[in-house]
Amino acid sequence: MNTYRILINGTVQGVGFRPFVYRLATRYKITGNISNAADGVHIVITTTPEILQDFLHSLHTELPSLAFIDTIKTRKLDKTIHFDGFFIVQTEESGKRTVRIPPDVSICEACEKELFDPKNRRYGYPFIACTHCGVRYSIIYDLPYDRKNTSMKFFTMCKACETEYTNPLDRRYHAQPIGCWECGPTLSLFDNLGAAFEATQEEMMEKTVRLLLEGKIVAVKGVGGYHLMCDATNEVAVKQLRERKRRPHKPFAVMVKDMAMAKELAHINAKEEALLGCKERPIVILNAQRSTLNAYIAPNISRIGLFLPYTPLHLLLLHRFDRPLVATSANVTDEPICTDMESLRQLNGVYDYVLDHDRTIVNGVDDSVVMAVADQTIMLRRARGYAPVSITLPFELPKRVLAVGANQKSTVAIGFDDQVILSPHIGDLDSIGSVAYYEKNIETLERIYDFTPDVIVHDMHPAYESTKYAKGNCKGLPLHEVQHHYAHILGVMAEKSIEGKVFGVAFDGTGLGEDGTLWGGEFLVCDYGSYERMAYLKTFKLLGGAKAIKEPKRVALSLLFDLYGEEATRLDNPTIQAFTDAQLRTYYLSWQKGLNAPLSSSVGRLFDAVASLLGVCQVMSFEGQSGMMLEEMYDSQIEGHYPFEYKYGAIDPLPMVEAILKEKDQKTAVSKFFHTLIEMIASVYCEYDHLPLVCSGGVFQNRLLVKLLVARFPHVYLPNDFPPNDGGIALGQTIAAAKLSD
Ligand code: ZN
Ligand code: ZN
Ligand code: FE
Repeated sequence: MNTYRILINGTVQGVGFRPFVYRLATRYKITGNISNAADGVHIVITTTPEILQDFLHSLHTELPSLAFIDTIKTRKLDKTIHFDGFFIVQTEESGKRTVRIPPDVSICEACEKELFDPKNRRYGYPFIACTHCGVRYSIIYDLPYDRKNTSMKFFTMCKACETEYTNPLDRRYHAQPIGCWECGPTLSLFDNLGAAFEATQEEMMEKTVRLLLEGKIVAVKGVGGYHLMCDATNEVAVKQLRERKRRPHKPFAVMVKDMAMAKELAHINAKEEALLGCKERPIVILNAQRSTLNAYIAPNISRIGLFLPYTPLHLLLLHRFDRPLVATSANVTDEPICTDMESLRQLNGVYDYVLDHDRTIVNGVDDSVVMAVADQTIMLRRARGYAPVSITLPFELPKRVLAVGANQKSTVAIGFDDQVILSPHIGDLDSIGSVAYYEKNIETLERIYDFTPDVIVHDMHPAYESTKYAKGNCKGLPLHEVQHHYAHILGVMAEKSIEGKVFGVAFDGTGLGEDGTLWGGEFLVCDYGSYERMAYLKTFKLLGGAKAIKEPKRVALSLLFDLYGEEATRLDNPTIQAFTDAQLRTYYLSWQKGLNAPLSSSVGRLFDAVASLLGVCQVMSFEGQSGMMLEEMYDSQIEGHYPFEYKYGAIDPLPMVEAILKEKDQKTAVSKFFHTLIEMIASVYCEYDHLPLVCSGGVFQNRLLVKLLVARFPHVYLPNDFPPNDGGIALGQTIAAAKLSD
């Protein structure tokens, strides 16, 4: 008999790992103990070398479904210790913090069964949870993951709950978020004046459903924030929500009772069904069954974002409601998701009622959004259920890195050893509130992991709030600047563990380039150490600077000036018609003189220009709108592409623009435009096809483009677990520190 010390790292806390080990130890008649610590789970056991091997084998093969093992380190102690049995002992507070923070998980089957079982003591209890399900990250103040480090510390367990909590053989053993009708969180319902509805918990849910059926808009507190909910089949209610939220077009997500209801609203293949039902419960972007859908859910777009209920409260509401429910994140435009009544009150006037509860949301986290294209899963927003996440790199980082991300859809990351911890989606840093929320996310990661960086990595753009944060908070630490599109490609290399050189294609909105122009149509040969820009989309002028990002007509006009000079103003087409004569004169001058007209090589902007030229979209009300609308007009029967010029590394799109102007048929123009983009990639890649092809950047959120890309290059590497948009930048920035030396 020997005594062994085993250190296990990974997702091993808050997932029923200790009771699992307890049961294994009992089975193998092993004595010793197990404890949680900030650097993982510690096990000390006394047994024979043979039984140790069997025990370690079972650890892997019988692991609970939510658990994930990164590393197991086993060490034989010099002295043999004798134990009287196997014990789960008090959590150790000390140690380096490396364990993974468990993400929030949707309700499990066992809890759902109890929820609807009239004989169960938690029958109908809207906060039922166990070791296999429920809130985690959203309620954590600190590690290790113990009740006293979560917002459940404000609820004292009743006798019955405590018995479950302390019994290693119970499904609720050390399940931190547990509670019941007696002792756990409770609901409250009030109107937009704050007048509370005095009633039982049951009656509050009944009343909420009645209000929704009447067409009212109800703010409902969920896991990582509030949702604004209304009846998705009620046109008046949905239209009213759009008006009150000043959100004219951007599609709303819809929560459905079950898979059957989802299938009434959308065409769903096996892969999408699996995504809808997975324990992370993301919003899945699907092809809508148009006939069954209210026109205001996703105006002029044949896609719909659906998700299944992920909390017991959602389940209870939807079982009573029995219709699809609009469930959009409650937030003021450009502000982070509302996580308490103080922030929600700013939306007074948008909601009529609030269904609230008293479990504090410590870390706000939005719903995640994914889509399936061909055989790929594309993560559009990585948040609840998926985040925070730890990525194991194929190498050790030479320094402790804080990567502060980009400015839109921002995320942040910390890197140490061979680990990167990426925050959930934080959002666009366009307001004071969102910047404060962003800083809070950095503080949370640093606090939980007891982390201080050796270097801060940031984007090159000086006006990004993230860059300003890096410069303002470096306290003498070295800063390292990484080009935006290089970071996009590095992010995919990290995800796919690709070492060595790759050929990277970054099709993006905008990101500052080395030459001061706004890049976004970049062809890079790169590795972890450096990159070389081999080719790019030839630049054009963004008339009005930042304004051009929201107004496709400005980009199109600029391309028309490039082609025809002042003559362009006399053309008869939708772009020109979208301006007054005075505007045309002004913009011509600004084009001619290059005043407030930065140069850009962005493919995102090229999409906008094409949408404007074809009269599809002149001004956008949400990001990516032009691409989505073009996608609607694509016809897979149409073949061929337009000409473009590729010379000295510059790809000139003007021959294509000219051809589009001459095209009689809109569908043909759109279809050939998409094919032209693929042709552009092909024409450059053919010179470098000995290297792996890696594509990323916001433009690859376009489902059709991804489909065409995968069809043409089946071996392409696309980001799957991390967003192709700027949500993936922080991960790439961390990797850029791989080759930093002192
Ligand atoms: Zn459960
Ligand atoms: Zn209780
Ligand atoms: Fe980007």
